[in-house]
Amino acid sequence: MPESTEPITPKAIDPIKYTIFYGTFIHTPTLSNLEINLFTLVGIDQNGTIDFIYKNNNQITNEDELKKTFIRKRNESNNNKIELQDITFINYSKDLSKFFFPGFIDTHIHASQYPNIGVGLGVPLLDWLKEYTYPVENEFSSPVTKFEFAKLIYSKVIARTLSNGTTCASYFTTIDLDTTKLFADLLLTYGQRGFVGKVCMDHNDVYEEYEESESDCIQSMNELINYCNEINPKSENLIKPIITPRFAPVCSSSLLNTLGSMSKKYNLPIQTHISENLEEIKLVKKLFPESEGYAEVYNEAGLLNNRTILAHAIHLTKKESNLISEKQCSISHCPTSNTFISSGEAPIYKYLNKYNINVSLGTDVSGGFDSSILQMIKFSILVSHHLSMKKNKSTDEEEDVRLSLSTALYMATMGGAKAVGLQDKIGSFDIGKKFDAQLIDLSSKNSNIDIFNWHIPNFKDNEEENFKKIKDLLGKWVFSGDDRNTTKVWCNGRLVIDKS
Ligand SMILES: [Zn+2]
Repeated sequence: MPESTEPITPKAIDPIKYTIFYGTFIHTPTLSNLEINLFTLVGIDQNGTIDFIYKNNNQITNEDELKKTFIRKRNESNNNKIELQDITFINYSKDLSKFFFPGFIDTHIHASQYPNIGVGLGVPLLDWLKEYTYPVENEFSSPVTKFEFAKLIYSKVIARTLSNGTTCASYFTTIDLDTTKLFADLLLTYGQRGFVGKVCMDHNDVYEEYEESESDCIQSMNELINYCNEINPKSENLIKPIITPRFAPVCSSSLLNTLGSMSKKYNLPIQTHISENLEEIKLVKKLFPESEGYAEVYNEAGLLNNRTILAHAIHLTKKESNLISEKQCSISHCPTSNTFISSGEAPIYKYLNKYNINVSLGTDVSGGFDSSILQMIKFSILVSHHLSMKKNKSTDEEEDVRLSLSTALYMATMGGAKAVGLQDKIGSFDIGKKFDAQLIDLSSKNSNIDIFNWHIPNFKDNEEENFKKIKDLLGKWVFSGDDRNTTKVWCNGRLVIDKS
């Protein structure tokens, strides 16, 4: 493991000192709004919460004066006063190739499949599960070796995603409870915000050794819910269990119904797969003949609501799209996975703009070959370009279905926050939200991006010109950048990755 990905917080409870960051802050608070704030002061309090934002003030160049101005303005609007000696001041404003961006949110990732990244190119979903996925997931149930195996894999995947700027992820583990608990421990060790999804599946015709009974599944889920409550530091609330029926083909109606009730009883979010592959859809029709379609199977079990994340959703019918919109579920778009195992191209522009469905991004490790949400931003745009090129101009609607850079950045942050039900806590830089953030340095050591002088905004440029230059830099980051440009990562206000 690279040195920089070792955990630097032994538990996510280290005290935080009031910190003021001064620099460029970029985010997408709404779908159509890319906001760029140069020379901005952001105060993070001892709870890791954004306490104060003071935008666009490059007229004060003296650092001491800047600190005093900040404290005066901040104390005018807050009864809980702070003093100069209480704060740490960190200035990134001098280098405009550095900027803050909200931490990425990965709304669909299988932690247990991490060793299979890059393996199984082009094998269709149902064969891919049988040949690659179930065997590796079954290793986490092996009585003798499972803890050692799980610790190795789960530590790597958390470290790697954090290093890529993912501050929150909704994970699938396996059916095994013990190693799922270990995974929850590791999230706290590394300080990443995470949803812990013990996979639920009560039959598996193609790999019979990997299944559980409904009663075992329910007992494990109850234990997991209690365990997460116990270990979660109260002030942090970093981890949460998530109800995770794997997908309809391996769950009985009875199990789906029980999981629907459980989510209601404990007020828990839900994640599953839907309409990824045409053969899978046929199988669901065969297994649930009384249901009108795939989405209806989940709806009848009480599994569709505004806390449900549906991964893939490539081949939805109009009726299903309307149902998902009406139930306010979110879609997790997984463009690399959909391309790697040839599942198809999800019509994301249509879901966002015609059906008004919230869409987020998922790496879908290891159907997806990359654990970086930055890469998902890039590939979601490229997949939409392919859809646009394939469009039959004479029959399709005239609208341009290509996703813009700001739409894709939104899906990676605020779209993800909405999907996991944390839109009031993370996803953008707003007062009262937690500071889940990454510092991007386009000129970092060994960066794959070369920046030339004329790319960098300067004080003399007007606002419009600066905005255009930063937008171009964002394009460079998304299309040529990688984890080398993510130099620091904060989760809940705590520095969890520092490569400097
Ligand atoms: Zn998946």
